[in-house]
Amino acid sequence: MMTPNLHYAQLKDSYLFYNIAQKTRLFLEEHPDAKLYRMGIGDVTLPLCPAVVRALHEAVEDQACQETFHGYMPECGAPFLRRAIAEHYRGRGVDLDEDEVFVSSGASDELGDLLDLFDRSSRALVLEPAYPAYVDANIMAGREIVRLPSGRENSFLPEPCVATRAELIYLCSPNNPTGAVFSRSQLQRWVDFANANGSIILFDAAYEAFIEDKDLPRSIFELPGAKTCAIEICSLSKTAGFTGTRLGFTVLPKALERKGMRLHDMWVRNRTTKTNGVSYIIQRGGAAVFTPEGQAQITENIRYYKENAAILMRALDKADAWYCGGKNAPYIWMRCPGGIGSWDFFDLLLERVQVVGTPGAGFGTCGEGYFRFSTFASREDTLEAARRLLSLLTCAPL
Ligand code: PLP
Repeated sequence: MMTPNLHYAQLKDSYLFYNIAQKTRLFLEEHPDAKLYRMGIGDVTLPLCPAVVRALHEAVEDQACQETFHGYMPECGAPFLRRAIAEHYRGRGVDLDEDEVFVSSGASDELGDLLDLFDRSSRALVLEPAYPAYVDANIMAGREIVRLPSGRENSFLPEPCVATRAELIYLCSPNNPTGAVFSRSQLQRWVDFANANGSIILFDAAYEAFIEDKDLPRSIFELPGAKTCAIEICSLSKTAGFTGTRLGFTVLPKALERKGMRLHDMWVRNRTTKTNGVSYIIQRGGAAVFTPEGQAQITENIRYYKENAAILMRALDKADAWYCGGKNAPYIWMRCPGGIGSWDFFDLLLERVQVVGTPGAGFGTCGEGYFRFSTFASREDTLEAARRLLSLLTCAPL
């Protein structure tokens, strides 16, 4: 009899989002006229920007004519898009060869697929609270997970230490869920640690576009030594509203080698075996993001979400709540009031003010007692949610 991958049996049920959906469904059944203010979702609400939409339309027209039609695209990405991305990095002082950029269908796909490059015996270090996919993808592959908890004492930005040595290190900055961002010197310590131990950092930069402080690193490759220890996984999902359009990219430097093997060559081999590339149309839309017009338009959209963050942060400030994130990230990570648990706070918010957020306990044990608000909702909903949150936290009438 065929033996399935038995590691799947070790996965915990996707308790977090399932439980949120269940609780909100039950509430709506009991209160069919209620309107919910959904501040939990990690999905964007603004449409694609005009420069991208125009490029997508033009690309559809190309596919309608024999002279401009494209069949299979190169597996590692269209040269025009790889060039545009490498240029974009160059503009920020990071020198890359075009073929160090690999186009993907999004960061999630890539975070799973990249694990093909590593031996199953390698341990994966996850800094908690963490995006749940890091843990699950490694459990599926049968890897041991090493957890490094963080908290208010280190502003949710833990330092490397010998006790947490692992071959793979996940870093996410700006972080989902905490919104914390590594400073240059903090990130440099992780780079030095990885180089000293022969580890590889998987640097999830899905939210880099939200960094506004000029001295914070947006790419790990801004730091000396990163090209010999890091892979950067990027996404246009939150940067440019591609959650439903699907496009991302990965930077894998040619200097990255372990045990005499170049990971760049291995990844080319992997891609040319396991994909037939990303759609021409979508890649054309993606390339428009990197034009001056596209950059100006996505900056406007990001500004909209940042104003949402400012609205929520003003309410939390007025209520004297402890929180981090929000400034350089689209997530606000709040300490639940009065020491209550994160699921109890979820229930309280839902029942009393119909605001839905994400309980911190869903991102690892050390997330208990915290709560995540996303800033991707509409302005109208964010304003009302902030008003309701403030009234709940200050016990003022609604
Ligand atoms: N990485 C982090 C930290 C995320 O929060 C998300 C999505 O929410 C992803 C990766 C996945 O991004 P994509 O839409 O490109 O698959």
